[in-house]
Formats: sequence, structure tokens, C-alpha cells
Amino acid sequence: MRAMVFREVGRPLALEDLPLPNCGKHQVLIKVIACAVCRTDLHVVDGDLTEPKLPLVPGHEIVGEVIECGASVAAGLKGKIVGVPWLGETCGRCDFCLRGEENLCDSARFTGYTLDGGYAEYCVAHEHFVFEILGDPLHAAPLLCAGLIGYRSLRMAGDAPALGIYGFGAAAHIISQVAIQQGRRIYAFTRAGDTEAQAFAMDLGAAWAGESGDTPPEPLDAAIIFAPVGELVVDALKVLRKGGTVVCGGIHMSPIPEFAYELLWGERKVCSVANLTRQDGQEFFALLDQHPVTTHIARYPLEQANEALEDLRSGRLQGAAVLVPGD
Ligand SMILES: [Zn+2]
Ligand SMILES: [Zn+2]
Repeated sequence: MRAMVFREVGRPLALEDLPLPNCGKHQVLIKVIACAVCRTDLHVVDGDLTEPKLPLVPGHEIVGEVIECGASVAAGLKGKIVGVPWLGETCGRCDFCLRGEENLCDSARFTGYTLDGGYAEYCVAHEHFVFEILGDPLHAAPLLCAGLIGYRSLRMAGDAPALGIYGFGAAAHIISQVAIQQGRRIYAFTRAGDTEAQAFAMDLGAAWAGESGDTPPEPLDAAIIFAPVGELVVDALKVLRKGGTVVCGGIHMSPIPEFAYELLWGERKVCSVANLTRQDGQEFFALLDQHPVTTHIARYPLEQANEALEDLRSGRLQGAAVLVPGD
């Protein structure tokens, strides 16, 4: 199969011919229809995340067709269109797994990081960690991480009628559509001068859009930070009401600068979101039945994965980049 392979930090992904992956007892072999590109993939190829398997096929927002099943896989999966998320496997035995926090599992394995992912024509995944996907595979692909992590972040933000979102990319554009349908007011913060992202947010129904560091027209009940920039935590605290929460939705962030305690005083909270649970997936896909979203995608052939990553890095894209191996 053709795959885009990561071998070393600082070297672009290389198009390689690899053997088809072996389908383990509890795994399914999937023909990849689409794989969205996540900021986490950038953190992997940039070396911000330091423990990838090597060589690695990145990609953890995969939608494809199950074409072969391992010996112990439940009947009925073959031929289904499934989605493969970041959470690839958990132990099921550690304290975290046993109390419903499998996102924090001590020995979890992650698609496109410690397991090979979907920047390829085929991949394998554990039968219990895939979601059945209905609807268009290309538009569904960004739901598998941008959507799921966005959902977990939104839940952590609590009721929050006035919700700030810092970094208006793939996750923000999905979850703000849900949040607006729930009756929340979205305040979108972008990098300085990014009027295109601000216009994109307003088109999706945001109540206001501006630059990070700006003061929105009302204090925020909560803020979600998707951009990997530590300064934004301080920016968000400055415009947060008492008792509000700042949720850091990314897997990596530059250092958070020192700030005065009075910004945190008044029972303001700062927390992170790590990974997802399968329960998040069930809840999120059920929520989309009530609050459907339209994902905005930019389509790239598989061999242009490096270009897609660069477009994400530079902020040139609105919405999500999606690799399509069949193109
Ligand atoms: Zn565990
Ligand atoms: Zn991701």
C-alpha cells in the first residue's frame, strides 16, 4: 500500500510502499477513504510529542471501509464504514480504566502516534475502538478528533452561555456549530490580523469575533483554547467572569507565562483536556443527531500530506484538511 511515513523530526513525510498491515485477532483491516489532518500530527512531526513509534504512519481522524476482520471480531463489522479516533487501545485494568477515565489510561495506545494511523491506503484498528459512521466519509473525518476533543472541551466548559474560543480552526468550527444550536453565544478569538478566520466564525453564527487579547462585549463564562499558545490562558483569564473555566483543548502548548493570582482568584479554574473516551464518542455522535453540523474541508491527495500540514501550520485553511488516498 502507499503510505506517508514519518521517520525523523525535521524531515518531511515520505511516500513509501509498505506491506498491508496484519490484522490481529481483535482488529479490523480498513481501506481508508479519508483521513483528516490534526494539529497533533504537526506536534508529532515537529517533535513536540516525543514518544512516537518509528517509523510511523501518522493520522488519527480516519474514515474507511472494513474489508477484513480478525479471528475474534464480532460478526457484522465487515463492509461497514467506520471511524478510527486518536484513542486506539486501553488496558481496561488500570485505576483510570476502571473508573471510567480510560482517556487517562496508563498504557493507552494512540492512533497515528504509538500505533500506525491513516495517512495510508489501509490501516488496522481495534474492533472496540471504532465508531460506525453514517453520512459522507470526507466530511465525517474531522469529527474523529476535532469533533470529539472539541466535544470533550465543550463539556468541560460547563453550561457557559457566553463561551470564548481561542484558535478558530477545525475543532472550533465544529463545536461552535453545536454550541450555537444549544443557545450559547460564541466569542471567537483569532491570531492578530486574521480577518478571514474572524469572518469564517461570524458566518458560522458567532456573536462576535476579534483578536486574542481583545475584550469581548461581555465577560466570558468559559473559554476553550485550541491554539497551542500559553499566553492565551492569561488572555482568557483576563476576560473570564468569577467562577469561570478556561479549558485547554490541545495536547501541547507553549509555556504559560507567569500571571497575577488575582486573575485566578474568584474561583476561576484552568484545566486541560486529554484524549477521549469511547463514551465521549457515543455521546458526541448522538448529540450530532439533534444538532447536525457541516464540516468545512479542504481536500488533498495522500501524497500531499506535507502540503496539508504546512497549510494547517500557516493558518491558510478554514476548517479541516482531509487526505483522500483515492484521489
Ligand atoms: Zn488502563
Ligand atoms: Zn487530533
